[in-house]
Amino acid sequence: MTIERFAPSPTGLLHLGHAYSALTAFDAAQAANGRFLVRIEDIDGPRCRPEFTDAIYEDLTWLGIEWERPVLFQSKRMAAYDAAVKRLTEMGLTYHCSCTRRDIAAALSAPQEGGEPAFGPDGAIYPGTCRGRKGNVEDAVRLDMRKALATLDGSKDLSYTEIGMDAGVKVLDKTALIEQCGDIVLARKDIGTSYHVAVVVDDAYQKVTHVTRGVDMASATQIHVVLQRLLDLPTPTYRHHRLIRDDTGKRLAKRHDALAIRALRDQGWSVKDIRAAVTLSA
Ligand code: GLU
Repeated sequence: MTIERFAPSPTGLLHLGHAYSALTAFDAAQAANGRFLVRIEDIDGPRCRPEFTDAIYEDLTWLGIEWERPVLFQSKRMAAYDAAVKRLTEMGLTYHCSCTRRDIAAALSAPQEGGEPAFGPDGAIYPGTCRGRKGNVEDAVRLDMRKALATLDGSKDLSYTEIGMDAGVKVLDKTALIEQCGDIVLARKDIGTSYHVAVVVDDAYQKVTHVTRGVDMASATQIHVVLQRLLDLPTPTYRHHRLIRDDTGKRLAKRHDALAIRALRDQGWSVKDIRAAVTLSA
C-alpha cells in the first residue's frame, strides 16, 4: 500500500513550492489507490503558530487535497525522538556539543588547511570542536558521522531509490556525507530533537512509503538514509522535485508571501492555474 505524506512546518504560509510537493504526493497517492497523510512538523516551538496550521489546512482543502485524520503533530512525539537519540548514544555514535553558532563561526574563520569552510543542509559544517571532549548532558547532541558510517561498513545496504527528476538507485556517498554534512545535530539544546531525527522516526512510524519534497532536500535525504540504517528503520522511496523560483530566480522562501497560495487565490488564480504554474496536469 502506497503511503505518501506532506509534512509542512507551521512557521509561515504555504507557497507554490509547497503546493508542488503536496499536489505531487497527493496525486501519486490517488493514482496508486494509496493513502495520503499530512504531518505537522512543529518541533521548533516559538516559530510554530496554530494560525499557520489552520492556514495550511485551509490552503490544502482549497487545492482539492484530502488527507487522513487525525493529523500527527511532531510536538507530541518528543519521547519517540528521545528514544532514537538515546539508541544512537548507546551505540557510541554521539557526543555532546556546547558550541554556539558564534563559536562555530569563529572556529571556521581560523585559517583552514583544506580551503574554504563548507556548507551543508544545516549550514556551516561543524568543525568537530567538541568531538572527543567530555560533554554536558544539557548540551546539544551530535552524530559522529565518520564513526556512524564506519559501523555501516559491509553490513548494510547503503542504497536507496529515487523516482522523479533524478531517478535511479543511489548509493550513499560517504565522502560527501562527511565533507558536506558532517557531524549533524541530532538534538538541539533548545528543542531536544532535530528535524532529521523527527522526520526519520515519523516516516517509519507512519509507514510512509514515498517521500516527496524539493531537490534542496536531496543532501538531507542522504542523512536520513544513514539514520534509517543506524536505527534499523525502513527507507521510503524518495522523489525530489525541482524548486519553484520567483521571477528573479530566487528560491521561494516562506516569507515570500507574494507567492503564498492564498495571495495567488486572492488575485484570482484557480487551482488549475496553480497546477499549471508548477507544471502538473490539472
Ligand atoms: N517540514 C519540512 C518543511 O516544511 C519538510 C520536511 C520533509 O518533507 O521532509 O520544509
